[in-house]
Formats: sequence, C-alpha cells, structure tokens
Amino acid sequence: MTDASDVVVVGGGHAGLLTAIALSDLGLSVRVVEPMPENAIREAPPDGRALALLAGSIDHLTALGLWDDLAPFGAPIRRVEVLDVGSSSKVAYRENDAPRTTPFGQGFENRVLRRALLDLLLARTGRSVLLEDRITGIERQAAKIVVRTEQGRDLPAKLVIGADGRGSKLRTLARIGLQRWSYGHAALGLIVRHSTDNGGAVLERMRPGGPLATLPLRADRTGITWVETTERAQVLANGPPSVLLGELSDALDGVLGEMQLDGPVGMWPLSGQHAERYVAPRLALVGDAAHGVHPIHAQGFNMGVADVAALVGLIRRNLSDPGSPDVLKAYERMRRGPNTRVIWLTDGLARLFTNDLVPLARARGAALTILDRITPLRRLAIQRGMRT
Ligand SMILES: Cc1cc2nc3c(=O)[nH]c(=O)nc-3n(C[C@H](O)[C@H](O)[C@H](O)COP(=O)(O)OP(=O)(O)OC[C@H]3O[C@@H](n4cnc5c(N)ncnc54)[C@H](O)[C@@H]3O)c2cc1C
Repeated sequence: MTDASDVVVVGGGHAGLLTAIALSDLGLSVRVVEPMPENAIREAPPDGRALALLAGSIDHLTALGLWDDLAPFGAPIRRVEVLDVGSSSKVAYRENDAPRTTPFGQGFENRVLRRALLDLLLARTGRSVLLEDRITGIERQAAKIVVRTEQGRDLPAKLVIGADGRGSKLRTLARIGLQRWSYGHAALGLIVRHSTDNGGAVLERMRPGGPLATLPLRADRTGITWVETTERAQVLANGPPSVLLGELSDALDGVLGEMQLDGPVGMWPLSGQHAERYVAPRLALVGDAAHGVHPIHAQGFNMGVADVAALVGLIRRNLSDPGSPDVLKAYERMRRGPNTRVIWLTDGLARLFTNDLVPLARARGAALTILDRITPLRRLAIQRGMRT
C-alpha cells in the first residue's frame, strides 16, 4: 500500500499531465501512473504528428496559469484558409475576424508539447508525482477508490481520473460502455522544412480522398495532417519521399517553396468513439479516454483541455472531497452534451468533405463562398470554430 493521495491520474499523455499540473496547483496531492519512463517521454523520437491548440483552449490554459509557460514551444496561427478542391470555392479567415493576440490558436509538435507539460509538472511538484507503472485493477471502498498496478502497488485516493487514451483500461475496469465507428481512412502525419515562410497560415485543402491541413510550427517548419483512404495512405507513406513531397507541393500550389521531410512519416487509422458515461463512483474520464474524433476539425485534445478545465473548476469548489458525487454529476452534465455536439459536427464535416455526390459538392462550394463574402457570418463561424 502506498500513501493515500487526493487524486490518482491514470495516463501521462497530454490530458493526464495537464490534469495533474492543474490539480497540484490547487494544493491537492496527486499521483500519475504512466508506463512510459520519464526519459522516454522527454526524448521521444519524432513521429510526424503536430497538434493545433485552438483559441478556446488557450483561454482555458491562461485561466489555469499555464499558457505563458507553454506558448514559447509553438507558433501562432495567423491566417486560416479552407479550399474545397472539387468546387474551387474557398473561405479565407483574416486576422481581424478573431481580434486577439493569438488570433486562431497555436501549432505544436505533439511530442514537444508533451515534453513541455511533463517539465512543468515535475518543476511544480517534484519527481515523486510520476509512477512508472500501469494500472490493472480498481477497488471501491466507502469514501475512496484503490488503484492496483502491474508492479503490485495499491494506490488509495478520493478520486481516480482516467486519462489513459482511446483504449482506456480504467474505462473497461469501470464497465463504462463505448460507441465506436470507423472512417475507412487513415491520417498521415509529417513535418516539413521549407524555403518559403508559411506566414503562420493554416491551409486546409478539402480533397476527394480527404482533407489535408498545414499547421505552422515555425516560419520555415510546418506540420501536415493528410487524410486519405487507408490503401492510398499506405502507398504514400511507404513510397519514395520525392513522390510524397511532389504530391504535397501540388496540393498546396507550391506555396511553401522547396520542401524537405523533417523526420519520419506517421500513419494513424481513423475512427471515432464516445464513452457512454464520463463518470462512475469516485472515477472520471478525460481526453481520449472519454472521446476520440476525426482530426478534420483539430478538436481531439482541445476537447480534452475543456474537460480538464471543467473538472478542475468543479474540484476547486470541493477541495475537501474531489471525488464527491456532486462534482462527478456536474462534470458529466457540463462535458458530455457539448462533446456530443462536437463529435456530431466533426463526423458530419468528415463525411461531407469526403463525399463526391454532385449536389453535396455544390452545396459545400456555395457555403464556403457565402462565408467568404459575408463578414459577420465568417466571423461568427471562425469564432465558434476556435472553441470546443
Ligand atoms: C494525425 C492526428 C492529428 C491530430 N491533430 C490534432 C489537433 O490538431 N488538435 C487536437 O486537439 N488534437 C489533435 N489530434 C488528437 C490528439 O492527438 C489526441 O486527442 C491527444 O493526443 C489525446 O491525448 P490523451 O492524453 O487524452 O491520450 P493519449 O495521448 O493516448 O495518452 C494516454 C496515456 O495513457 C497511458 N496509458 C495507457 N494505458 C495505461 C494503463 N493501463 N495504465 C496507465 N497508463 C496507461 C499511455 O501510455 C499514454 O501515455 C490529432 C490526432 C491525430 C492522430
């Protein structure tokens, strides 16, 4: 048996690390159970994945007192342009459509953001917060829950938070059901260095095979998320880089100039999922453990940030018992509805933009043209779109 803590966080990915920092900042004692060794997180090799934190998440991170420490690791998004390749219609969101310092959000290399979160956690709490281990069981007792681990630890706490990703063991142990669906597509993730300044632009190209989006990481370094049918993604990922880069350059009309791959090309099969509940007695799910979405709208971790902000806000008002039924009920109410709407919207967009039916393609084109021309509508769309 290990000393009791207020909260055990299962999983030291982005959502788990963020949760642990925010709860420790409230003065609670926290343990994070994560099988990956600290050094392996810090020295993780590149995997091609980049991540956009949208303006709404920046607001949450600012309110949690973390944004100033994280901002230097990414690059601001200053312009967003969405082009429907089939109809050649586009909408270009201008900087003054979202009047703020970081207008639309910020791009990060995935592993760099995780490392920054890890360093923040260790700097604020010390190394003993992290347990290199994996959970295998839970046992509920009167006013606490005990987490069992592979290495034989028993960790009693008032609340256990599942941030252990899409295949969440904690969700299974709590017998929380899951809805799951597949898209038959895969996302390629790659980072390129290039000769022309990206100008802080996100360029989203809605192509017949699926969307392709750029994300600024630095003026001369850009993350690419490129969705294709699974077979085509495999061909591109395993073929010569010159073919991949040639096709990428064509898709972007050469706007980034000469490009070189900066690291390997990663590939992720695309599916969606939603936990049937986010809570059980003395237990809550956050991040991908609760929901997983198509990357078309860059919402995945942004939904996780909103989960963490909501849960931490509720716990702040109940510090003596962070796992009380009132906290958990309110958390479920605050997050499951909004996340359901984001999941439907993301799913609808993913299907709309990979459908070649002529009437749908026309409607898509018309919608983008209207958004581009009518300033108040365009502003409303981007300001809504930058929140989760
Ligand atoms: C190609 C692509 C592009 C994306 N782009 C964006 C984007 O632009 N913006 C955005 O917001 N999101 C994006 N996402 C989604 C985003 O990457 C995820 O939502 C986010 O990384 C999930 O973080 P998480 O911490 O919830 O889960 P994970 O990162 O999966 O972390 C789970 C952690 O739990 C640990 N774990 C697993 N099992 C156990 C166990 N039994 N015990 C203890 N620990 C365990 C794992 O080791 C891991 O560290 C993208 C995803 C993809 C694939």
